Parts: sequence; structure tokens; C-alpha cells
Amino acid sequence: MKKSWIEIPGGSDFTLENIPFGIIRYGDQVAPATRIGDTVADLSVLADFGFFDDLDIPDLSVFYQPVLNDLIALGRQKTSQVRQRLQELFADNCALLKNQEDVCRMSLHPANAVQNLKPVSVGDYTDFYSSIDHATNVGKMFRDPSNALLPNWKHLPVGYHGRSSSIVISGTSIHRPKGQTRPDDNQPPVFGPSRQLDFELEMAFITCGETALGESIPVEKAEDYIFGLVLFNDLSARDIQKWEYVPLGPFLSKSFGSVISPWIITLDALEPFRIESPLQEPEPLPYLRHNGRNHFDLKLEVYLIPEHSEGKLICNSNLRHLYWSMAQQLAHQTVAGCNIRTGDLFASGTISGPEPDSFGSMLELCWKGTRPIIMPDGSRRTFVNDNDTIIMKAYAEKDGIRVGFGDCTTTILPAKV
Ligand code: MN
Repeated sequence: MKKSWIEIPGGSDFTLENIPFGIIRYGDQVAPATRIGDTVADLSVLADFGFFDDLDIPDLSVFYQPVLNDLIALGRQKTSQVRQRLQELFADNCALLKNQEDVCRMSLHPANAVQNLKPVSVGDYTDFYSSIDHATNVGKMFRDPSNALLPNWKHLPVGYHGRSSSIVISGTSIHRPKGQTRPDDNQPPVFGPSRQLDFELEMAFITCGETALGESIPVEKAEDYIFGLVLFNDLSARDIQKWEYVPLGPFLSKSFGSVISPWIITLDALEPFRIESPLQEPEPLPYLRHNGRNHFDLKLEVYLIPEHSEGKLICNSNLRHLYWSMAQQLAHQTVAGCNIRTGDLFASGTISGPEPDSFGSMLELCWKGTRPIIMPDGSRRTFVNDNDTIIMKAYAEKDGIRVGFGDCTTTILPAKV
């Protein structure tokens, strides 16, 4: 394991093996950045001092933009080189940056002294439904327990097009949505604040590169278009969803706020945690077929924290529980000819595992309200209360290497009057 001259606290998500990309703000400055330990590095300052000059990047202005779109549009190969350069600069045996006190003072800052901004301008956003345990749980609760999966589920990665305007950075509070619900099936619908506010534990990938309209991305090439991943909390109002979703799918119940973690963890950083994909039976159609190691072993956690009392870990899941891989999702998204752009975001769908404590939503954890979670202060939850905070975490550990995502945090505020 390589060492860094920058201090990395034990258990940090941001090791020398990670080197994620994000956008920071401090004073008047907004710039692309990375994080190592509890230190962030302003990439625009490193660019000022020529640290990326020999990487053959056509236009260095990508290091001075308020979003990462232009930087990641350089493509996987170039951004991998930038990441490797940062790893070199931070490595113990490299004096290039370490010995330049002025440059260090200008480029390196304590992570808690800067603000993270949304790392990319998200063009389009798709939400998949790729966890078999989640889809099965929902099918059991709302349809037929003995026939929970719909007939298409094992043949294609089911998804819908969401709204990108309401995707926000971790730390943003979200007001409880208002809308139409129909609590009594024999009465007309009513209007008011949602009474079944939920989270969905998801991971999302962000694309780099464009395709032309009509073009399809083959499944074996799909990862060339995946820059990296963020945690994704797809807040959902179950009561609004139940009434509105027929027949076109979720609408206002999922577009009032979706929260992403601040640092994009590259596919390169996740490489050590690649695992064999699950056996898919029946075998998918040829355009979705790819054998091998297309999944990732990444621990996922959700904490629920009331406003004035102790919180609790309520979910332990893992990215490995996805049935459809990210590559299959992207191949399917483009197979009909839909073009993609740099900065598009593709969320996995709620990631539930087989164990009841691995379910990735309150709907499943509390089984439609029938199994309340008891909080440390004795209060009960079947959905999320006003002023509750939801924190999602993701990390992988193997052979002494740890790579994590940091927190994806949001607090639910009362409905706006
Ligand atoms: Mn979702």
C-alpha cells in the first residue's frame, strides 16, 4: 500500500487509492477539486503551476470550470491520467508538490473549510429498478406474493426518465412534499403534505462522452462511458406515488428532491472491488449479455437521526445485490437509439439485499408500516418524520485498501405553507 505525505486518518474514505473529483467553493473561488484524508486540493491552482501540462490535455480551461462536465468529457483515458498524476503528487516518495510550500498553501485546504457544490451539471436523469430483492419486496407488498416479479423484470433493466432539475448536493434540506393522495379507496383524493415520506438507497453513475442519436452503446463498451459513481438518495412520497403512478410511472412523488454525495468516485478507484456478476436466468438477449466481473462489492449504510436525539443505523446493504450491472443499464438505455451526454446520471434503483436489515427503503424495512423501527429515544418510525436527517454511506475495503464516498446527507423540513 502506498503512503501519502498528507495525513490520512484511520478509516478515512479518502485514501491515496481513492482520489475522487468534486467542486469546492471557498471565498470567491469555485473550482474542481479532489480530496485526500481531511484535505482538499484545488485543481485549478495545481493547473496554474503546471502540474498537468505534460498530460496532453487540449484545453486546460477544464480545470477552471464551476462544474466537472468539461473535465470528464475528456474521456476515461485522460481523466485516469489526471487522477494518477494526483496520486503521484500526494505520494510519500514524490517531492514535486510536497516541497513547494507556497503552492501547498494555495492549493490545499482543510475539507471542513470549504463547501462542496454539485459536481456536475446533470443533463438527463434515469432511475432504474435493478435490485431483485427490492422489486420482489414491492411486488409482494402491492401485488401477488407468489408472483412478485413482473414478467419483463428478468429480461430488461426496468427504468423511467426522472427530472434532473431537483437533484441536489448532500447537505441540502428538502421540504416534505405536498400533493394528491387517496388514503381511502372509496373516497375522492385529498390534498396535503405527504404522510409517507421515504428514502431510497441508490448508487448512480455519471457518464462521460456523447453518443449520436440513433447510436447504441454495446454492453462490452459501456464502461468506457462511465466516469464514476455517487450515492443517490431518491426521496419518495409513497402515498403520492400510489395514487399518481398508474399508468405512466412515478411523477411528482419522486421529483421534489434527490440528493447526491459530493465526490464522484471513479470507476478506476473501484477496480479492486470488482466481483463476479450474478448468474442471470433466463439468459438475457444478446445485447445485454456480458459475462465476468461487472459488479462491485461496496458496503452501503443508512442512518436515521431525529432532530434532538440519538440516531440509528437502520440499513446495511451492498452494491453487489444489484441484478443488472451498470453496463447492462447503459446498453439498454441506448439500444433504441437514445443518445447520452456527458454529465447524465443513471441511478440504480433502491438497493435491497435478501436480509430484512438490508432493505433500502422505509417502505420495505417497516413492511408498509407494519413493523415500526424503534429509535433510541423510544419513538417509532414507519416513514421519515419532519426534521429527521437521513445519512447514507458507501465504502469498500479489501487487502488494506479502503475507498469510500463520504456522506450523502439530507434533513426533511416540514411542508411549506
Ligand atoms: Mn428510485
